[in-house]
Amino acid sequence: MSPDRHLPIYLDRHATTPVDPRVLATMLPYFTEHFGNPTSTTHQYGWAAEAAITGARETIAAAIGASTEEIVFTSGATEANNLALKGVAEAYFSKGQHIITLQTEHNAVLDPCQYLESLGFIVTYLPVESDGLVNLDLFKKAIRPDTILVSIMAANNEIGVLQPIAEIGKICRENGILFHTDAAQAIGQIPLDVERLNIDLMSLTAHKVYGPKGIGALYVRRRDPRVKLSPQLHGGGHERGMRSGTLYPPQIVGFAKAVEIALVEMEMEKARLTELRDRLWSQLSQVEGIYLNGHPTQRLPGNLNISVAGVDGNALLLGLRPTVALSSGAACSSAKIEPSHVLKALGRSESLAYAALRFGIGHNNTVEQIDRVAMATIETIQSLRKLALRS
Ligand SMILES: *Cc1c(COP(=O)(O)O)cnc(C)c1O
Repeated sequence: MSPDRHLPIYLDRHATTPVDPRVLATMLPYFTEHFGNPTSTTHQYGWAAEAAITGARETIAAAIGASTEEIVFTSGATEANNLALKGVAEAYFSKGQHIITLQTEHNAVLDPCQYLESLGFIVTYLPVESDGLVNLDLFKKAIRPDTILVSIMAANNEIGVLQPIAEIGKICRENGILFHTDAAQAIGQIPLDVERLNIDLMSLTAHKVYGPKGIGALYVRRRDPRVKLSPQLHGGGHERGMRSGTLYPPQIVGFAKAVEIALVEMEMEKARLTELRDRLWSQLSQVEGIYLNGHPTQRLPGNLNISVAGVDGNALLLGLRPTVALSSGAACSSAKIEPSHVLKALGRSESLAYAALRFGIGHNNTVEQIDRVAMATIETIQSLRKLALRS
């Protein structure tokens, strides 16, 4: 794949990644040749699809230290988060109604939590430190006798910050509370072993690790403890009753292939991305009034998130648009751009939260591209500041 000169450089991997050609090659036969329904048990077409799904399930389970019966395929991490939060809330309702999560979670966790509040559940949204990390003492103090679930993400989608999930898992286990983690950004980038980390539920998605969109999974622990989950989709009883709906073989084999490749290449890619990220930051940090958002080292290797003083966030993005495809991390709701809830939780002012850039460096990015992006960013900031002085 030669980069198209007319297209901006893609630095938005936290939003999505392209499908790896090796992943696509694995998927293709399952559209036309092995098109069977994996639940058709009376003929070869069904068996072929079923065999492919069994293999994929084994790959994904092995990648996180789980067993195959603990993997529930979903349409992605949004659905996995919904199933985890609503499924646990419903199943453990008589035990307690308190849930703990973080202010910096993805909306796919925050919105289900708000929905659960509307049903009468009580949710504690823990603040974070100025570097984006959870304060473990505050977390411990938030635990109540009726706390049934803790949902804290492994890696943040805006600032890349890696939460101390091993410590969180240990505290949850000691207190007999279920621990769910949204690992949509973490899978394939950091080691995730559900045993070592005491994780009871974990949301995964394929399209952030060079797999296809529309497929993900929820890991659901089967023993010590056995997690009970109320299904949110009822129907044919697929996925041991936890998620009905015909499984999607091309997406599932693609998901497994993407995870398999990511694990093999993880260490090498981590070193390469860290170097590119640090190279970008070493150039940008020369400019006055650029601030790093999130912990300097405890973050995803390909993530750099900055706030820029003295410029308009929208103008900054517009100025960079021809050169680089990235996002501010701020959520665009219809016409209005809202400052990011994540940056506000770090204590950033409204204007710094608004004038933010999220660089997400991935597979296809080169040193040359990073240098071009650094130069374009610096030039855009300087010309915007000059304009601001004149007006
Ligand atoms: C992308 C993302 C999601 C949503 O995943 P989908 O598979 O697109 O539904 C949820 N949580 C985090 C942290 C994400 O980055």
